[in-house]
Amino acid sequence: YAAGADGDVVVIGGGPGGYVAAIKAAQLGFKTTCIESRGSLGGTCLNVGCIPSKALLNSSHMYHDALHKFAGYGVKVGSVSIDLPAMMKQKDNAVMGLTKGIEGLLKKNKVTYVKGKGKIKSGSEVTVELLEGGTQTVKAKHIIIATGSEVRALPGITIDEDKVVSSTGALKLKEVPKKMVVVGAGVIGLEMSSVWARLGADVTVVEFGDVIVPYMDGEVRKSFQKSLEKQKMKFMFKTAVKKVENSGGGLKLHMESAGAATTMDANILLVAAGRSPYTKGLGLEEAGVKMDQMGRIEVDPHNFKTNVPGIYAIGDVIPGPMLAHKAEEDGVACVELLAGKAGHVNYANVPGVIYTHPEYANVGLTEEAVKKSGKPYKVGKFPFMANSRARTVDDAEGIVKIIADKETDLILGVHIFGPSAGEMIHEACIIMEYGGSSEDIARVCHGHPTLSEAVKEAAMATYDKAIHF
Ligand code: FAD
Repeated sequence: YAAGADGDVVVIGGGPGGYVAAIKAAQLGFKTTCIESRGSLGGTCLNVGCIPSKALLNSSHMYHDALHKFAGYGVKVGSVSIDLPAMMKQKDNAVMGLTKGIEGLLKKNKVTYVKGKGKIKSGSEVTVELLEGGTQTVKAKHIIIATGSEVRALPGITIDEDKVVSSTGALKLKEVPKKMVVVGAGVIGLEMSSVWARLGADVTVVEFGDVIVPYMDGEVRKSFQKSLEKQKMKFMFKTAVKKVENSGGGLKLHMESAGAATTMDANILLVAAGRSPYTKGLGLEEAGVKMDQMGRIEVDPHNFKTNVPGIYAIGDVIPGPMLAHKAEEDGVACVELLAGKAGHVNYANVPGVIYTHPEYANVGLTEEAVKKSGKPYKVGKFPFMANSRARTVDDAEGIVKIIADKETDLILGVHIFGPSAGEMIHEACIIMEYGGSSEDIARVCHGHPTLSEAVKEAAMATYDKAIHF
């Protein structure tokens, strides 16, 4: 199958939504083409998102531990210092290895990879402006749009990716800033704040609303914020940056805080106020594809169909949580449905993870949401202070909180704030996917000593009592 010949599926965008959809489509026997304009596969996630941020979170955490914790473990390391270029190189190598790996996977699965910018001509035709010059037309029975999202700009602030940066610039700063101001106390803002605060920057997070990460369980949020404050991150709520003056030497930020005008100096301003769907130059208006007020492509959530026959959309560009694993699930379900299989995504059971230290991971409802629903419920909690493994490795901050239906014991929500929360949450995801109860978790034998025992004990505390607390 040569690119340009008639095919079955053409995917526009090679991020976690697009490349996964393309691989799955090929595995299901479709002749598939994946078009990507970035020059490398993996999308936002691999190139400027999940992967590089997690690399820097890990390196900065190790630096922080070497400075503050190694001595307590009896490990003497002499003087500890940062080699930022080496840290960046490790991150870049991880990104490069993974993006090349995806290229290998496309090849292995016989997906045709076209490097260029795709534009929809009709329900079965995409023209590509090739990166190497020239154009190419790709025809297919089904077009899947997976063009993802881009940084949301703020009025009055021009991002130059030098001193005024988005997450992309914050992932490749050339030196540790003395003073960094971060606009937005969401997941991306807090993760990048953690990186640079651990490396020694004085970080203030400025938030327009009155809480950090609004979707978080309120009780856990309080401990989470306290923990970040202990790590020297400062927070200003009901505050907005209105204008930035760049004097060459530094930045002067003009802000409005609780109704009053104020200013603050900074070396770096990070704008992390959310992301917007990316559909620029895709030809959606001409093709008549409907979008909502926020610029997201409207689809039937059961089958990813847009209003134009033959055109589908998945991932960050459609409504729903902007998460890589959600985009991947969309991709698999979308092509399974095209193949006549029962593709399905359970959006009520998509976990969220914040990779600070400790981590926060959640699935299902917050206590506030359950309370609002009026459903009788019970809560089981277990602190990592009472977990033997966490104490053994001296990493015992945090808590597991499980919310279950009072009558049926069905698990409604799980919130883990603690070490490796992002790994442990999947125990809850699996149980919830299969309609399990807190007793189901508690009656499963867990290895000892493990952090996961904290999940088991919180489950015990939901319908009975924990043993170790
Ligand atoms: P994208 O990954 O954005 O990919 C879309 C691709 O389409 C892009 O490569 C783009 O170049 C290409 N494209 C666009 N238009 C065209 C066109 N016309 N023709 C050809 N190609 C085109 N999510 C998590 O789950 N976990 C995390 O830890 C996490 N961390 C993040 C950290 C940061 C700093 C950021 C910014 C995001 C993070 N995310 C994380 C979010 C995650 O990156 C996105 O949810 C995910 O990448 C969405 O996948 P997607 O395939 O829908 O879109």
